[in-house]
Amino acid sequence: LFVPDALIAGARLVLEAQQSHYLLHVLRYESGAELLVFNGHDGEWLARLGEGKKKAAALDVVEQTRPQEPTPDFLYCFSPIKVGRLDYLVQKAVEMGAGTLQPVLTQHTQMTRLSVDRLQANAIEAAEQCGILALPKVREAVKFDRLLDGWDKDRRLIFCDEDAAGNNPLSSLKTVEERKLALLVGPEGGFSDAERRQLRSLPFVTAIPLGPRILRADTAAVAALAVIQATVGD
Ligand code: SAM
Repeated sequence: LFVPDALIAGARLVLEAQQSHYLLHVLRYESGAELLVFNGHDGEWLARLGEGKKKAAALDVVEQTRPQEPTPDFLYCFSPIKVGRLDYLVQKAVEMGAGTLQPVLTQHTQMTRLSVDRLQANAIEAAEQCGILALPKVREAVKFDRLLDGWDKDRRLIFCDEDAAGNNPLSSLKTVEERKLALLVGPEGGFSDAERRQLRSLPFVTAIPLGPRILRADTAAVAALAVIQATVGD
């Protein structure tokens, strides 16, 4: 369970109403129940449910069970898509090792109203579900051109390009030597020709095909994350 508080042995944490409801009325935990908590920087701690109020469960912090893990240095750049699928896409990216998530507004991005708070909550939920201790960070959206301005040249940008030669991404990924990686997936309407040309012209960019069919953006994202994690990711 994510808690925003400092985690110190003996500390008593009071949960906010939504988490209290979840523990007491959904999971039906009783006093004395043990659970694991994390705050994104102090590692994982064992905590015990104390006598609290209905809408404010109390947790007594016992001991650290896992040390803090570093935030994965994998930058996941995506063009926002429809809200429901966007929640899914953010959760899968976190599960697959994204440490930083960067929404990118490309020429064909259809969705401009973007709630970073909502995406951050989804990222935290994914971390809770997978036992990821380093909190992924969802950044504010940037325009496509701003993404490339001041790009860290030591970070390889892998972009999913349905017009890339061939079908197998592995041959393109074999050339990747950098340890710092980023992935970029386009919007439902795809990258514009100008965006594609700009990406292909950059020495730190690698285009990868993901098979012969046009995938939905969220499908492409998961496919690309899986291929990258299985080959050049860590
Ligand atoms: N341009 C596509 C079309 O013709 O309708 C739509 C783009 S697709 C729905 C969304 C994004 O997923 C693309 O911008 C690309 O990043 C990625 N993608 C989809 N299929 C892909 C494939 N076969 N290979 C590589 N990337 C793919």
